[in-house]
Amino acid sequence: MPERTLHEECGVFGAIGVDNAYDVVMTGLAALQHRGQEGCGIAYADAQGELCVDKGPGLVFRVFAQVTPGSHPGRCAIGHVRYGTSGGREADNIQPFAFRQGGEDYAIAHNGNIVNASELKSAMGRRGVLFRSSSDSEILGHLVKMSPHGKAAISAEALSLALNQIEGAFSYLVLTPDRLYAARDKHGFRPLSIGRIGDGYAFSSETCALDAVGAQYLRDVEPGELVTADASGLRARRWSKYRRNALCAMEYIYFARPDSDIEGVNVHSFRKESGRILYEENPVEADMVFGVPDSGLSPAIGYSERSGIPLETGVIKNFYVGRTFIQPTQQMRETGVRLKLTPVRSVVKGKDVVVIDDSIVRGTTSRQLVKMLRDAGARQVHLRISSPPLKHPCFYGIDISSEQELISARLDVEEVRRFIGADSLAFLSEEGLLRAGHRADLCMACFDGNYPTALYSFR
Ligand code: SF4
Repeated sequence: MPERTLHEECGVFGAIGVDNAYDVVMTGLAALQHRGQEGCGIAYADAQGELCVDKGPGLVFRVFAQVTPGSHPGRCAIGHVRYGTSGGREADNIQPFAFRQGGEDYAIAHNGNIVNASELKSAMGRRGVLFRSSSDSEILGHLVKMSPHGKAAISAEALSLALNQIEGAFSYLVLTPDRLYAARDKHGFRPLSIGRIGDGYAFSSETCALDAVGAQYLRDVEPGELVTADASGLRARRWSKYRRNALCAMEYIYFARPDSDIEGVNVHSFRKESGRILYEENPVEADMVFGVPDSGLSPAIGYSERSGIPLETGVIKNFYVGRTFIQPTQQMRETGVRLKLTPVRSVVKGKDVVVIDDSIVRGTTSRQLVKMLRDAGARQVHLRISSPPLKHPCFYGIDISSEQELISARLDVEEVRRFIGADSLAFLSEEGLLRAGHRADLCMACFDGNYPTALYSFR
């Protein structure tokens, strides 16, 4: 069984009202590359106002390697970086998807996971709808076509009716030759921000990509909101009367880049505060503390500041080893982990160390990390996790599909510690996690099993 770590769950970026929107979106997607590396695509209006789509497997600068800056002079575009959590990993599933309705082309890019996808697809299948991909992300386009507005060009009304039939996690960008729609699910699982760029607007899964293109952050798209951007400016409407803030806690813990702000909270600051609280809840005496790159680094700073234990660099990450290197044999998996993470022998030798990591999935990576630190001469290894134990699968677009793969679903903390071989092990509490972001309203379902939506055929 392959080793599992958590993987990011796609990102979307759009721009309208700017020259060379294609180039702007390409830069935005590159800044969102951490959210998906399997494939990417850009839908854009060309100089004649025709909607076109370029996409392919791989990283942004590989897929668009042949693009000359300025060669796509249109003023609106949307893009997507894909990590395949639903629909398999075939090229057909790379977004954006193109549709035609009422004599007008449009394209859709989607970040998230639809929990009633099977039910919707079955119902549409009975009405003769043919899906071109196995991705859930195509569903919105077909729902719009089947709505009472299905014969006319796409509109905010048609989108609102269609969105009301979809349950789950989504941030959608929809592009026509002269309009861009941005919608967020009514629980706000996935982030989506709006920025001002020149006379136009940019939309992004994370604010780090707004910074990358020189856009000024305006606000987040609210849960249950549909925003229309065109030559007249921005207009917002609620597509759902229901609203609950249930942003995915793992966005703060692991997925988002530390320089991003989500719903007014900076990701680095959140993680650093979680490290401070982690020490208050689980103190230990040691010679040094260090984080596992990348998402363990910020909590390690907080742990060090709060405890007074010196901050060190105890493990180095090789950024050039992709997960494709990790093969499904035990030996290759261990080689993969050793290539990805390397202890700094001269730093840890003879020392009692506190290691901060963001989460434990199967536990095998943590076990190898502890072993590598001991082999490098560390005297005691105390593992601290900046999130509560992962006990439940995620149905909202994160790649944790069954309880079987989660060690904390089967073992208590002491049993996990014994499996990993650490001298001590402790997790951040659920209350501590909420306190880190000064929030009372995150999705915590993979920790506490309280899913914000119905789960339909998943259970
Ligand atoms: S279940 Fe966990 S990973 Fe999934 S959306 Fe909720 S907090 Fe995020």
